[in-house]
Amino acid sequence: MLRLSVEFRSAPEPLSRLTRKLVCVKCRKFLHPKKIGVAFEEGMPVANAWKPYELFAGDLMACRSCGFELILPAQGPVAEQHQADYPKWVEMLRPMLLVEDC
Ligand SMILES: [Zn+2]
Repeated sequence: MLRLSVEFRSAPEPLSRLTRKLVCVKCRKFLHPKKIGVAFEEGMPVANAWKPYELFAGDLMACRSCGFELILPAQGPVAEQHQADYPKWVEMLRPMLLVEDC
């Protein structure tokens, strides 16, 4: 019985349903899921350019009033650039952007 409830709680669910409500300060409205399951890469500066370093997955959230968007990432990267299978993960998850910040 305990095992069943643990399995139920760990079933895959959109991140946006598991977290607290996100609020658009400007509009005083909640952010809603715009796309469940998106990916992005975190960059690192290499010779005055940003190169992909880590791959993250998450949900794209948006304010329905002003269009403000943010990505709510899952905890921790899916893959890191030094791993041999990094290109496969990138091909599979198709990151929508490279974050040029660290
Ligand atoms: Zn807004």
